[in-house]
Amino acid sequence: MQDVFGRAIGYLRLSVTKECESRCVYCRPTESPGSASGALSAGEIESLARHLVEKHGVRKVRLTGGEPMIRADLIEIVQRLGKIDGLEDLAMTTNGLTLAGQAKALKEAGLKRVNISLDSLDSEKYQRITGVDGLGRVLRGIDAAVAAGLAPVKLNTVVVRGENDHDVADLLLFAVDQGLEIRFIELMPMGPLAGQWEQRYVPESEIRQRLGDVVTTWRPGVSGSHAARRYRVGLPYGRRGVVGFVTAMSCPFCDSCNRIRIAADGTYYPCLMDRPAGSIVGALRPVFEPDLLDRLLEKGLVGKEREHPGTGTAVMTHIGG
Ligand code: SAM
Repeated sequence: MQDVFGRAIGYLRLSVTKECESRCVYCRPTESPGSASGALSAGEIESLARHLVEKHGVRKVRLTGGEPMIRADLIEIVQRLGKIDGLEDLAMTTNGLTLAGQAKALKEAGLKRVNISLDSLDSEKYQRITGVDGLGRVLRGIDAAVAAGLAPVKLNTVVVRGENDHDVADLLLFAVDQGLEIRFIELMPMGPLAGQWEQRYVPESEIRQRLGDVVTTWRPGVSGSHAARRYRVGLPYGRRGVVGFVTAMSCPFCDSCNRIRIAADGTYYPCLMDRPAGSIVGALRPVFEPDLLDRLLEKGLVGKEREHPGTGTAVMTHIGG
């Protein structure tokens, strides 16, 4: 499955719920959109993913949300997806708040790895940014993910001026000491901070300057992810680690975009920042219709632009980031 610019689609990002207990300053929905059709069932999610893997060569699925761990049948979803032959990578992005109690079960169900959002190591700041007094729970979730072997565990930090731009060096030291990779994500002009994006956005170049307090050497070109520009870094006392930057704004990676996104209610987004290309629910309900699904997916891909439009109207908790 290719778009009109020849980019092959190999990665499905699947939001399994629009609900989330966090109220992050950069993401918090006032009201999440969504059709009356309700969330796709575990069986519908499996049909969709199986078809994309078996017929179209998708190799990677990431579960996201809202907060995917809110979904009561998450283990069943993971079990179903984990059994699909040819699916090489099954990952999840989570706020980590309830991961401690479920990391082992998720691993046993077939989840390969997790990205955990962590915007500050200062509990008051964490609460101010996310709206939840939950830093301790996230740190326990990180430990549990490592212990369960959900590797590599990666940390995601959205850097927002005036919130956590002074925290990046501490976060990097923490990640390196835990043996984890951290990815600093540039704020995108979507969600509640869209109107003040210029004042709140911190580009990769500035984040790297701030990390200069602790990083002694930078070695670029670490491969492995289409989205993150990764560097091997040296730190004092011989410590070494890998840090990534998701630079959707300062250096977009649209040329290598291999993703499509499906929201929990079946809304189809060929691009994170562009308008949705309708819904695929009609191909999944009341019975799975693979030919109709192909037509809907292909029609949407025709409209996938070469580059993202620069601002987005989608609600992140709906589309899944
Ligand atoms: N609840 C999960 C979490 O907290 O990671 C998954 C859903 S969250 C919407 C997915 C990703 O979107 C997170 O990494 C989050 O930090 C990112 N995100 C949300 N709004 C953003 C924005 N305005 N700019 C950049 N990243 C954003």
